Amino acid sequence: MKNIIFVAPPAAGKGTCSEKLTKDFGYNHISTGDLLREARIKGDDLGQKVAQLMDSGALVSDDIVLELLQRELKGMDSNQAFILDGYPRNISQAKTLDELFKELSINEYVVIYLNIDFDKALSRTLGRLICPKCKIGYSKDSASLKPKVDGICDNCGGDLITRSDDNEETFKIRFDGFMKETEPVINYYQEKNKLTIIDATQDVDTIVKEIERVI
Ligand code: AMP
Repeated sequence: MKNIIFVAPPAAGKGTCSEKLTKDFGYNHISTGDLLREARIKGDDLGQKVAQLMDSGALVSDDIVLELLQRELKGMDSNQAFILDGYPRNISQAKTLDELFKELSINEYVVIYLNIDFDKALSRTLGRLICPKCKIGYSKDSASLKPKVDGICDNCGGDLITRSDDNEETFKIRFDGFMKETEPVINYYQEKNKLTIIDATQDVDTIVKEIERVI
């Protein structure tokens, strides 16, 4: 099985697809957004800095994210395929990842670009709920992604929350940041013949079937 790198604008479904791929195929899900959310919970100097940047919709600095990611990649079982969700987000991170893969002898990977337009991604963002404990994502608006009981995680019974950066104002900054900083990453992987483009407005089962074809 090949490793997967997801490149996508906010709310395209990286997290939801990762959950399904992890469940169905045993992938190790590495989300830089989740790693940063864990770092901010600690509330130390680094956590406060991360919280401020995330809530403003800006990217966290490359060196902070790299440190968290490196720890995760180096600490994982090298026989288990992984999903990288949220990294790389700019060309500099893509080049750093090439070096890291070289160092760790990781050669087999595909890059999945989940394509979605601004309006659909915004509406998904405003309907999104997450479980802070299990990290599972839900949607208030989608029949297939609604929790069984309103506001409660199906998995652990905990209270679901809205992410602090899931509001219209921050979404616009994040989407704009994607177009400016992350879109060039798509061309970078296209030139390396690593890219598969998938319509992210399809349901999660259809998207995962399309991913299955390339892993
Ligand atoms: P996500 O959970 O992927 O939507 O990420 C949430 C937020 O975490 C982003 O808006 C950024 O502030 C930050 N973040 C996640 N991944 C990265 C990354 N690779 N580089 C910089 N910031 C990141």
